[in-house]
Amino acid sequence: KKITIAIDGFSSTGKSTLAKQLAKELEYVYVDTGAMYRAVTYFAMQNGYVSNDFFDKETLVNSLSAIKLHFEFNAELGFAEMFLNDENVELPIRTLEVSNFVSKIAEISEVRAKLVEQQQSMGKNKGIVMDGRDIGTVVFPDAELKIFMTASPETRAQRRFDELVSKGQAVTFEQVLHNVQERDYIDTHRADSPLVKAEDAIEIDNSYLTKEEQFSLVLELVEE
Ligand code: C5P
Repeated sequence: KKITIAIDGFSSTGKSTLAKQLAKELEYVYVDTGAMYRAVTYFAMQNGYVSNDFFDKETLVNSLSAIKLHFEFNAELGFAEMFLNDENVELPIRTLEVSNFVSKIAEISEVRAKLVEQQQSMGKNKGIVMDGRDIGTVVFPDAELKIFMTASPETRAQRRFDELVSKGQAVTFEQVLHNVQERDYIDTHRADSPLVKAEDAIEIDNSYLTKEEQFSLVLELVEE
């Protein structure tokens, strides 16, 4: 019987790695909700609504109806890529620049309402694994399996740093650690849907788990 799997937690805890493995193994649909918040952020940056010293929240909110998001499965990559108004934005949404602004954009209630609605409709049918910050609490409070992932900030920053460097981005470890800590703070302190562990979520601290150990642990939970 197919179920809904919600995976929440702090940034760079390996949520998407786990979610992709599960989706492949179980033949479920995987939805990366962080990509949707990143795409809205990229839209705001491209239109000049947000920069280091400027943030025109009101115009962004008024432009939300001009933002069309969809995913397209890429068989070669083995996951679905993010499209913003029919343009593939999978690469540009992963930069440190987008990471630096995304939590600010994700604080906006109107943005959350729009994305949550789309996420709920994407998950209408069971057999879905969705990762984010509010999946087990807001998007699918009735999900049959909820996982909450944690790891130390240093472990997470190291992972994100290695990933960015492997993609050829010029960043320092300190910049990445700073970004991870800043996003943790904003994500846990925002008024609308702050990042919290759902009461019935199972917490996994993967600082000391390999990907394989973590995967088999969660597979057992799915089969229970
Ligand atoms: O998962 P990822 O790190 O790509 O998410 C980027 C940002 O999007 C998070 O730091 C958070 O601010 C926001 N987000 C959110 N709710 C979600 C998914 C992501 O607020 N469900």
